[in-house]
Amino acid sequence: MARLEAVQGDITTQAVDAIVNAANTTLLGGGGVDGAIHRGAGPELLEECRTIGGCPTGEARITQGYRLAAKHVIHTVGPVWSGGQRGEAALLRRCYVNSLQLAAERGLRSIAFPSISTGAYGYPIARAAEIAIATVRDGLGKPTSVELVRFVCFSAADLTVYRRLLDG
Ligand code: ADP
Repeated sequence: MARLEAVQGDITTQAVDAIVNAANTTLLGGGGVDGAIHRGAGPELLEECRTIGGCPTGEARITQGYRLAAKHVIHTVGPVWSGGQRGEAALLRRCYVNSLQLAAERGLRSIAFPSISTGAYGYPIARAAEIAIATVRDGLGKPTSVELVRFVCFSAADLTVYRRLLDG
């Protein structure tokens, strides 16, 4: 079974095979973690993203990491929270499933996730973290190259939520 851990920090400095970007459907950059990843990677990342032509919500696309410590960036688009009755949970689950699948297809061994959708997209952190951890645990139950999944929480409060769920 792969190792699952939660840390507080900046995902752009993680030295893993892939960091996951909470992108938007254009893949052309934005605020929050997306902006930080593009700043860290440099302009080559945006150039590669332009060739992809966008990504629907719940899906994922992989690029190189350029100037980041991570070799790759997996861009996934989380749902915008609008009360929970519009399929948000299923879409958020797809983000984790599809990101892990891309990592496995490339034979990647370590991957770091931010807390997808819980910033500008407004997904309640406790519900989102529960989906993140349950979906990743489920995905790692199947044969995969992935040996380490790190949840990188930006705030101490988010880390508390993740740690409680991981320990529980
Ligand atoms: P979304 O649009 O999917 O909600 P955001 O980037 O607004 O994406 O927020 C997602 C999460 O990423 C939030 O918890 C936010 O605090 C966090 N975040 C922002 N910058 C970073 C960073 N450099 N490293 C890790 N997490 C970050």
